[in-house]
Amino acid sequence: MAEKFAVGVDLGGTKILAGVVNISNGQLISAAKKKTRVVEEGGELIKRIASCIAEAIEIAGVEPKKLVGIGVGAAGMVDRERGVLLAAANIGGTNDLPMADPLSAQFGLPVRLGNDVEVATLGELNYGAGRDCDNFVCMFIGTGIGSGIVNNGKIYRGGNGTAGEVGHIVVMPDGLPCGCGGYGCLETYASRTAIAKTVMYDINRGMDTVLRDKIDPAKGILRSKAIAQALDMGDASTLRAITQAAQFLGVGLATVINFYNPRRIILGGGLVEAVPQFFDLAELEARRRALRIPSRKTEIVRAELGDYAGTIGAALLCKN
Ligand SMILES: [Zn+2]
Repeated sequence: MAEKFAVGVDLGGTKILAGVVNISNGQLISAAKKKTRVVEEGGELIKRIASCIAEAIEIAGVEPKKLVGIGVGAAGMVDRERGVLLAAANIGGTNDLPMADPLSAQFGLPVRLGNDVEVATLGELNYGAGRDCDNFVCMFIGTGIGSGIVNNGKIYRGGNGTAGEVGHIVVMPDGLPCGCGGYGCLETYASRTAIAKTVMYDINRGMDTVLRDKIDPAKGILRSKAIAQALDMGDASTLRAITQAAQFLGVGLATVINFYNPRRIILGGGLVEAVPQFFDLAELEARRRALRIPSRKTEIVRAELGDYAGTIGAALLCKN
């Protein structure tokens, strides 16, 4: 079979990561990165994505006729048919932004649009921790918690396309308010944002923590690497925050295991990669909480494609 290449674009809240991918074997040929500005109007965002794509194509040096398309995985709600980014709370509040048409016109290639979690799951399914498994759930822990469900080797989207919103499983009926408008959702207790909030609470109470200077108090942003370093330094406040978040994540995992009985759960995101204790504690809690048989049989593993899962997965949208 002749080799085919596609451009994959991971469009997130903080950065755009574009790359040329050999979609015959999942190999990333080139990568280009740009920041996603927090406040940005739609036209400017498209321009940035386009320049990132152009850079990735140039670095790759692949013959233009071998490029079959461009796939974009965006952190938000998408209309796959029309190629429109419907709502993206973390990308400058962009709403109803046509994405496929302008990019397609500029590059003369078909453009497919998907959701970021969906494409990262597609990447793990084809070339990552799910390549030998056809029933699994990918859970990505970051600003929030999202998941992709793979059933019989295909992404399962649900009756109305909203399946996998694992971050909004309620773990505390009258708990903390969530961005979704509800209360006590898993992601308000177990995401990186939740950990940052717990640490902020300690700081505001005057507790001593090495994370005091590492946290952006206005936005509550804390990097995974800073968390890992604080743990290595034996920071009590960080250890407590991580333990609490991992316990809640374990409760969420147990719910997924009991209800869906996946063969495997794949955990991804910067926090899982940078903080081994977080993964270990969450797994322990999940096995303590889930029903006896699925608790023993469900494999819980780390995602394998790391930072480029979204880019590789987005390119795979062009495979068919
Ligand atoms: Zn929620």
